Amino acid sequence: MPELPEVETIVRGLDKRVTADTITGVWIGSRKQPLKSPAATIAATLEGKRILRVHRAGKHIVFDLEGPERKKSTKPSSPQNSIVQWIVHLGMTGRMAICAPSDEIVKHTHLIATLASGRELRFIDPRMFGKLSVHAKQFDPGGIEPLEATEEQFLALFRGRKTPIKSALLNQKLLRGVGNIYADESLFRAGIRPRRRASSLTRDQLRKLHRAVQEVLREAIALGGSSISDYVDADGEEGFFQLQHRVYGRAAEPCLVCKTPVRRIVLIGRSSHYCPKCQK
Ligand SMILES: [Zn+2]
Repeated sequence: MPELPEVETIVRGLDKRVTADTITGVWIGSRKQPLKSPAATIAATLEGKRILRVHRAGKHIVFDLEGPERKKSTKPSSPQNSIVQWIVHLGMTGRMAICAPSDEIVKHTHLIATLASGRELRFIDPRMFGKLSVHAKQFDPGGIEPLEATEEQFLALFRGRKTPIKSALLNQKLLRGVGNIYADESLFRAGIRPRRRASSLTRDQLRKLHRAVQEVLREAIALGGSSISDYVDADGEEGFFQLQHRVYGRAAEPCLVCKTPVRRIVLIGRSSHYCPKCQK
């Protein structure tokens, strides 16, 4: 499942390759699951629009589109050139591929946007947990961007919360886009056990955690950055580097710092990994 750093990498790759291109046509498959806006609305919103930029909001890919209104609306107030957003969430197995029209249309292709440059932007998702939608206004997934959160904002999010800190980190209404792997890795670096109640953490521990979350995400983005072009190609995941995990997925293996076996527990249905010696 792509997490925030992977989505950031994908977004940078897309922004580099499709910004300033224009969507000339849209084909949408018959499967309804990935469509969070009606197919006709998605098609009408995308067609004829110029891609102004591609950016990230939490784990969502956001295409800012500009162009003439194609809706039949006769409202006199609707502007001639409005900015709309196309939102793609990759879910578990979704990916965006930039293809040539002659490339084979692989199974589970749900949307094809034809570009004026002659290429195609395709959305492929075998398990269909991904989501496609269009928004007339600024899309807001809720929560604060973890990489933009100031120390004060971060402290305010968690102070006084009775839930385990790991659950609070995964709560998308607080921080958007921190997933299971990066939550475990951040807690390890900050020396905090996943089950600790957020409210029991000192100011200093929360400060450490704030730094750890940003550090882990930035390192992962830096690693992903080297494989941008491969990632968005038709073959998808090829060449994508992963951050060297220190605790995640290393249950019973020795802690890289103190050699104590890493412990795995299940917290709100997700596996959590920590070192019982390094994390308090
Ligand atoms: Zn340790």
